[in-house]
Amino acid sequence: MSPLADRYGRRFPYLRLSVIPACNFRCTYCLPHGYHADAKAAAPLSLPEITRLLRGFTELGMHKLRITGGEPSVRHDLTEILRTAAAVPGITKLAMTTNGTLLSKRLHEWMDAGLNAINVSVDSLDRAAFARITGHDRLEDILHGVDMALEADLASVKLNAVLMRDVNDRELPTWLDYLRDRHIGVRFIELMQTGDNLAFFRDHHVRAETLEAELLDAGWQLLPRAADAGPAREYRHAEYAGRIGIIAPYSKDFCAGCNRLRVTATGDLRLCLFGEFGIPLRPLLQSDDQLEELVRAVGGQIGRKEQGHFLHEGRTGITPHLASTGG
Ligand code: SAM
Ligand code: SF4
Repeated sequence: MSPLADRYGRRFPYLRLSVIPACNFRCTYCLPHGYHADAKAAAPLSLPEITRLLRGFTELGMHKLRITGGEPSVRHDLTEILRTAAAVPGITKLAMTTNGTLLSKRLHEWMDAGLNAINVSVDSLDRAAFARITGHDRLEDILHGVDMALEADLASVKLNAVLMRDVNDRELPTWLDYLRDRHIGVRFIELMQTGDNLAFFRDHHVRAETLEAELLDAGWQLLPRAADAGPAREYRHAEYAGRIGIIAPYSKDFCAGCNRLRVTATGDLRLCLFGEFGIPLRPLLQSDDQLEELVRAVGGQIGRKEQGHFLHEGRTGITPHLASTGG
């Protein structure tokens, strides 16, 4: 079957699958009061449901899978999920986004299961600032896990840092020291408004362009955008081993590079991070015979994907916080 494309010619080789909405951190921009389970909420997808989902998406041209959450490592059968995903024919890149709390303990187990790329969220390299942002004084162990990942045979190791005014927006010199000798990509992500964080967003949103101007002043160069690249703008500098990516969802044409679909932990397809609706796929994941029906259903929904989000108008869709979709 030819790869899935939408009305605007965008293709979707990349699926972000949340495996659990729960998280052990309390990031100020995401779950400032921690995760509270909704007693009526359905359980996350089981391993057989995940397997059927992934088979359906590979039929539609997906070959890169990212496991996310909530915090994926909160799920006890995470290693089994990775092993199962890695065995699905067609998945060539198996990545995960994590806050890194179990990274130093589980990295090799996850890699043995088939994980070949990892993004770790590290919003600050300053221990006190990191603890204030996440509610956990664990920066040192997480950075140790990141160094282990760099020494291991992974195709890619990246850090994610959400930029916040008056919180971590003056740390570029520290980051540059960190990047000088490490073959790592850091992605600075512009803070996004979600259903729950309006007051925080108003106080702390800062345009990524400010940081990009600093990078250009310091001699960093913007790389030409690869045809199959996602929405990040990539910078490099001859004197640094590391690279810097900028994810600026409020910039012009951000959505033109959209190459991803999302499925929540309970099996809702989300065509956009900030969309107004989810499409429940779980009823189509109950038996192996439903593969064709699943493929038809996803293919039939893709025409509903909007050209862009409506964040500039403050419309955040049904996403209360990004832990609910996997970001
Ligand atoms: N718990 C994992 C983690 O933090 O890496 C995975 C899930 S988290 C929702 C995925 C990514 O979304 C993280 O890098 C996080 O920093 C980012 N994120 C969460 N809320 C955000 C927001 N309002 N704006 C920008 N990025 C956000
Ligand atoms: Fe948890 Fe990730 Fe949200 Fe932080 S950003 S609260 S680690 S889900």
